[in-house]
Amino acid sequence: MINLPGFKTLGIQPIIQKRLQSNGISEPTPIQNETIPVLLEGKDVIAQAQTGTGKTLAFLLPILEKVDPNQPNVQALIVTPTRELALQITAELKNFTEVLNNIHALAVYGGQDVVQQMKKLKGAIHIVISTPGRLLDHMRRETIDLSEVSMLVLDEADQMLHLGFLPEVKEIITALPLNRQTMLFSATMTKQVRSIANQYMKKPVDIRIKNKQI
Ligand code: ADP
Ligand code: ADP
Ligand code: MG
Repeated sequence: MINLPGFKTLGIQPIIQKRLQSNGISEPTPIQNETIPVLLEGKDVIAQAQTGTGKTLAFLLPILEKVDPNQPNVQALIVTPTRELALQITAELKNFTEVLNNIHALAVYGGQDVVQQMKKLKGAIHIVISTPGRLLDHMRRETIDLSEVSMLVLDEADQMLHLGFLPEVKEIITALPLNRQTMLFSATMTKQVRSIANQYMKKPVDIRIKNKQI
C-alpha cells in the first residue's frame, strides 16, 4: 500500500489518511499544506485561495482531529452562504464520520423542516454546517446550543458577504464564546472580508495561495 507522507507529516490520523487514499487523494494541495499545521496549533487563520483548490478539507481535517467525541456538544460551527454548499460540505464530512462513527455532524439550512431540525439538534451533535438565516432562526428560538463552540469556520466568506449576510454573520459571531478559534476561507479578499477579520479574529495568520494549484 502506498504511504501518504504528505498528510502523515501534517499530523492527520491514519484512519483519515486511509480514507483520503481510498478517495484518490494522495497529496495535500498547497492551501492544505499551509493551513492544516497552523489550524492544528489552534491559531486563527485567514486562508485565501482560488475556487477548486481544496479549501474544504483544509478546515475539515483539523476539525476532525480536534473534536472531542466524548463531549456531546456542538464544538465546531461551519457557516456557508448557500444550502448547496452546506450539503456539499456535509457530504464530504460524512466520508470521514463513516469511519469516525462517534463524531456526529448535522446540516442546518433553510427550506428544511425546522421541527425535524430541532429534534436532531437535541441529540449529540459535534459539528454543525449551516446557512446564516436558518442558524439565526435556531439561535433566536434557543433550539441550538452554541455555548461550547470552540471552532468557527466562515466558508466562502466573500460570497457570503456579497450575498448581503453581513448583519447575520455579525450576529452569529458575537453570540459565540470568545474563547474560540476562527477560520476564514475565501477565494478573494474584499474590504468586507478584511473588516470581519479585523473585528472578530485574534491575530490571524494570513495564508494566501496565489496561483491555482491542486
Ligand atoms: P474550494 O473550496 O477551494 O473551492 P474544494 O474543497 O471544494 O475547493 O475542492 C475541490 C475539489 O478538489 C473537490 O472535488 C475535492 O475533493 C478535491 N480535492 C481536495 N483536496 C484534494 C487533494 N489533496 N488532492 C486531490 N483532490 C483534492
Ligand atoms: P433560509 O432559507 O432559512 O432563509 P438562509 O437565509 O441562510 O436560509 O439562506 C438559504 C438560501 O437562500 C441560501 O442558499 C442563500 O443562497 C439564499 N439567500 C438567502 N438570502 C439571500 C440573498 N440576500 N441573496 C441571495 N441569496 C440569498
Ligand atoms: Mg470552498
